Amino acid sequence: MFADVLVPLPLFGRFTYRLPDELAPCTVVGSRVIVPFGQKRHYTGIVTRLHHDAPAAGITVKDILSLLDPQPIILEGQLRLWQWIADYYLCAEGDVMKAALPGGFNIESSTLEQHYRPRTEQYVRLTSSFSGSGHKEALSKALEGMRRAPRQEALMLRFLELSGYDAGSTPHEVSRHELRSRDDTSGATALGTLVKKGFLELYDVEISRLKPSSLTPGMLAPLTPVQQTAFAQIKDLWQHHDVCLLHGVTSSGKTEIYMHLIQEAIARGEQVLYMLPEIALTSQMQQRLRRVFGNRLGVYHSKFSDAERVEIWRKQLSSEPYDVILGVRSSVFLPYRRLGLVIIDEEHENSYKQQEPAPRYHARNVAIVLASQFGAKALLGSATPSVESYYNATSGKYGLVTLSERYQSVQMPQIEVVDVKELRRKRRMEGNFSPQLIAAIREALSRGEQAILFQNRRGYAPVVECATCGWVPRCQRCDVSLTYHRRLGQLVCHYCGNVYRLPASCPQCEESNLRHIGLGTERIEEELHALIPEARIDRMDLDTTRAKTAYDRILDNFASRHTDILIGTQMVSKGLDFAHVSVVGIIDADTMLNFPDFRSYERAYQLMAQVSGRAGRRDRQGLVILQTRSTDIPVVSQVRHYDFPGLFADQLTERQAFGYPPFTRLIYLYLRGRDERRLSEAAIAVKQHLDTLFGSRVLGPEAPPVARVQGLYIRKIMLKLELGYHPRTARQQLQQLLSEMSAQGQLTGIVTHFDVDPM
Ligand code: ADP
Ligand code: ZN
Ligand code: ZN
Repeated sequence: MFADVLVPLPLFGRFTYRLPDELAPCTVVGSRVIVPFGQKRHYTGIVTRLHHDAPAAGITVKDILSLLDPQPIILEGQLRLWQWIADYYLCAEGDVMKAALPGGFNIESSTLEQHYRPRTEQYVRLTSSFSGSGHKEALSKALEGMRRAPRQEALMLRFLELSGYDAGSTPHEVSRHELRSRDDTSGATALGTLVKKGFLELYDVEISRLKPSSLTPGMLAPLTPVQQTAFAQIKDLWQHHDVCLLHGVTSSGKTEIYMHLIQEAIARGEQVLYMLPEIALTSQMQQRLRRVFGNRLGVYHSKFSDAERVEIWRKQLSSEPYDVILGVRSSVFLPYRRLGLVIIDEEHENSYKQQEPAPRYHARNVAIVLASQFGAKALLGSATPSVESYYNATSGKYGLVTLSERYQSVQMPQIEVVDVKELRRKRRMEGNFSPQLIAAIREALSRGEQAILFQNRRGYAPVVECATCGWVPRCQRCDVSLTYHRRLGQLVCHYCGNVYRLPASCPQCEESNLRHIGLGTERIEEELHALIPEARIDRMDLDTTRAKTAYDRILDNFASRHTDILIGTQMVSKGLDFAHVSVVGIIDADTMLNFPDFRSYERAYQLMAQVSGRAGRRDRQGLVILQTRSTDIPVVSQVRHYDFPGLFADQLTERQAFGYPPFTRLIYLYLRGRDERRLSEAAIAVKQHLDTLFGSRVLGPEAPPVARVQGLYIRKIMLKLELGYHPRTARQQLQQLLSEMSAQGQLTGIVTHFDVDPM
């Protein structure tokens, strides 16, 4: 008996292993197994097929070493979804597996502790004798000494494997429990010996349990007549469309409609997946859904620990799964058995697309595929739909429902465009604040109301420059200037995260004349403190939300009005609902508008319209101050007049004229390498081959705006396929070309990856 096994490595294909007789009866598709791979390496793989097809003569087949699950932990539908993702996004299935499975599933025996979990768990780590510069040597010596103790050696190797020691990255934590395999009783003694010898040590880690909620489910608010109509239209359209787009202005009650649809679905015995683009949004939404669905709601995202994610996964496999899952993009990977409805809220958000690492999938599109696997219905919702989805809706592929009125007819905020160029000329700007914005904030605060300020850049200043000679500090590993972070007192590379000291004087001309150019959230915060010292100000961006509970703390403080003004990046623009915000300031629209990308106007519109939607109270119209130097470009007036159809029409015309999606499909091929000349030659060679296959559909190679990241130079080749071009053929041709070129050694030292439907 043989088993095809998928391993969590960026390799194409599945690998065949022999299934030892004693394992054969209990092995099933979807179980985890431990398999040897390469030289002395072991991986947790997933059985994808059981069969009797002996591999061709001459191919050595290794044995499966042990079986971790007598019951599948991956359902067959999930395996099909993984394969679809790998095919469509041109990546390895092993990469999909790595993204899909919580890390906690990487070797963990299943027999123990299914029902009982201790509050603390023992973990294993290398002792300090392996720290410092000579650690590799010390380790080889230790392993050398274990030659005659194969069990100790095996355990040690497995520990190294699990901790990712060799990979050179930050080591994973390894629990004692993970380290011991299912039927390995000798593991304990070997471990004891290694601890006694001073190679490994044990330490305790507290396990956080899934906290059951004490709330009892409540009632749904009845829908207003307008909402009721939309609700009925959606269900009507689902008769003939699997996907429906709900285009509803901010605060029109889209979420209320979702909740009614969810309730009907679970009453029919179906499961519901409710997706949000950002973790920051989950806690508010969780509270709202919890009040109605109580313990039938489960939440899933990457800020949960591995143990918690494994527990949710197992619950979804059990006979009593959550009926509703609220999650970010990774929640498409959970096991479902009776999915009936998928809701994709804020469907236009870029964060649904995973950029790095592979799989570079778009969770909205994967969720639609997931829904279709179950014959389930999908609902996309947004106040500012993506051009692609709106096009699908207006061309009849999706159903379209529009809600153009806010709940209780609260007025949309008034948007005032402020001409920064003019004000600067008249010297009326105070730093980056117009008199209009300062006045609006002061008035709001005097009425006990709050304000949100939006600036889509974190840090203090994106560029530091020597005013004397023009020297600009750049990252040594990336081709990009460094962002100054004042609180850290350091320069930070936003591409690789490297930090540098800010020199006291210019290293080139030795003058101490460094100045800050450009504008980040930190600088806005500082200016605002100086302008309105009595205001309580907080900031929400990537830098202030690294800790697990940071979002909640910032948002709670704002919701409970312990903060008056919240400054932030795009994080503050999304679906947050605060009752006392009456003013929104868009500090600088120009960086968004001038971004060189065919989607920049669409994105600028979405960001500005979304953040504007945060303003407005029941009793008074909200006010948005939009600061820009480009007062006369159409997007600005489209934002100002809530003219989404106008924006859509303009964008569609442009996309058609220049051959961009939705009229074409884009596939980018990235090549990266340390040696720029070799890279450049390889890129040209690839391009020439592509030309013979695809003709004028190939563009590039070009060096992207940031042409070196983490020491690797980058080249990008773009493929623009017209809609009639069969995507499956294209994908096959691309895969084949690259594997042939690597087989011929033409891509040695070069890493390639595809980005399908890039954002
Ligand atoms: P959206 O998702 O379109 O932004 P929400 O569903 O968040 O809109 O609604 C905005 C606000 O109005 C929320 O505070 C919500 O509770 C309230 N609301 C909307 N519809 C109703 C309703 N039918 N009954 C009671 N409150 C509602
Ligand atoms: Zn200088
Ligand atoms: Zn860098």
